[in-house]
Amino acid sequence: AKAVGGGVFAPYRPRMRDGLVERLELESELRAALENGELRLHYQPTVDLETSRVIGFEALVRWPHPTRGMISPLDFIPIAEATGLIVPLGRWVLREACCQAVEWSAAAGGRPLKMSVNVSVRQFDRADLAETVAGVLAETGMPADRLCLEMTESVLMTDTEANLEQLVRLKGLGLTLAIDDFGTGYSSLAYLRRFPVDTLKIDRSFVERLGVIADDTALTDTIVRLGRSLGMATVAEGIEEFGQLAVLREMGCGFAQGYYFSRPVPADEAGRLFLEGAHT
Ligand code: C2E
Ligand code: CA
Ligand code: CA
Ligand code: CA
Repeated sequence: AKAVGGGVFAPYRPRMRDGLVERLELESELRAALENGELRLHYQPTVDLETSRVIGFEALVRWPHPTRGMISPLDFIPIAEATGLIVPLGRWVLREACCQAVEWSAAAGGRPLKMSVNVSVRQFDRADLAETVAGVLAETGMPADRLCLEMTESVLMTDTEANLEQLVRLKGLGLTLAIDDFGTGYSSLAYLRRFPVDTLKIDRSFVERLGVIADDTALTDTIVRLGRSLGMATVAEGIEEFGQLAVLREMGCGFAQGYYFSRPVPADEAGRLFLEGAHT
């Protein structure tokens, strides 16, 4: 944003400036926001469908921009990925999320809290990812088995040898690995045999029409069964209505997230949600 003077920022942005200039500007602003500690994490509860309790959260990064308002990660994560900024940004997210998890768990008398963090394929490309994660775990006192790293199927499909090695090293730290947006990426299931994955996150696009469109219902059921027969946990994303929840419970899906339970909320609210524990 351009300072107009006296700390006033011009709200008007001609559409012509969208594109390259806009991107470059966003990039340098994002870099500054990260350095100045202006990024925030919101947390969306994960609910155990058997007990209806909040067992943990997914950390989702937010950028409260002084003039553009809250910028969605869908708009700035791709820029961070393209510029490599995702590496320090991802490290910050990981550290912040682990810190909060340790704090909230202690406040709840030591009740275990599972924290899920999204990791971009660009972070997997770095040979030192496992070292970084190990460092953050040691620094924050987060027990490794309470951390879950979420990755998309693309991590499993590109540069497989190096990524396999990386995943094995991460697993060696004792954490869990989840495939995010499962079912939307590549159709090959063979990689599930090769990679040490613990959890399938069923994409919201399937859940959306659950119980309404027969195909989506059948696909979701198939993913839940697949998870069960491979000994993997299943987490359904994007539950918005009770009907979807009922169908997922019936199918035996283990965990769920979605607006039906809670939107992603700021840290103080998430801490309270965890203390309250039960949901629905
Ligand atoms: P995701 O990992 O698939 O996260 C789920 C997204 O769905 C979140 O959007 C969440 O707010 C939204 N969501 C949750 N429940 C519902 C629901 O019931 N209905 C609807 N309509 N939406 C729901 P958000 O926070 O805007 O994040 C978008 C994406 O940005 C994430 O998708 C993830 O891919 C990426 N992202 C967010 N934070 C990070 C991060 O720290 N690192 C990386 N690498 N990516 C991140
Ligand atoms: Ca995710
Ligand atoms: Ca997802
Ligand atoms: Ca997604």
